[in-house]
Amino acid sequence: MATYTLPDLPYDYSALEPVISGEIIELHHDKHHAGYVKGANDTLEQLAQARETDQWGTINGLEKNLAFHLSGHILHSIYWHNMTGDGGGEPLERDGTGELADAVAESFGSFARFKAQLSKAAATTQGSGWGVLAYEPVSGRLIVEQIYDHQGNVGQGSVPILVFDAWEHAFYLQYRNQKVDFVEAMWRVVNWQDVAARYTAAKQRADTLLLAP
Ligand code: MN
Repeated sequence: MATYTLPDLPYDYSALEPVISGEIIELHHDKHHAGYVKGANDTLEQLAQARETDQWGTINGLEKNLAFHLSGHILHSIYWHNMTGDGGGEPLERDGTGELADAVAESFGSFARFKAQLSKAAATTQGSGWGVLAYEPVSGRLIVEQIYDHQGNVGQGSVPILVFDAWEHAFYLQYRNQKVDFVEAMWRVVNWQDVAARYTAAKQRADTLLLAP
């Protein structure tokens, strides 16, 4: 039995148009995300085989593949729910409680400054990567991370709550080489209710890491 499974999208392929075309979402979910799920499961099987046979010649490659595919699976699973056709605006107007809006203001100075940092981090990824808003449990602050591929340049323990996919497969069919325009458009589909729920859950999870201040 497979350990990881491809989650269904929470909406139709075309639900995020015109910001993201249905063609992109269909390929992105059904082919790219599915590939990471398969890759993670295949790698776990290969690691089991290595343990079974006590053959460790490929251990470095297998551990890298596990980090890549597992992180790809997790980030995409968050990405789909971070977006909605009824999204956009700012967290203060959309998340109900104001807790996330307060955390953004405390951590970044203002929503506008946070937006500028995450936009810049996503749009300037070299090669493939992500711009991510994460809860950092030691400080209790929100931080922006610029992730290489799916797994590099990550502060251990940080919990992603809003992720911008900046791989070319996320936008190229529609935006061509205009990654800056794609990132700017992404703000129109952000599901702040989902981000706020992830913020609350991340703060609770911090206690279980034995890291919280
Ligand atoms: Mn992707």
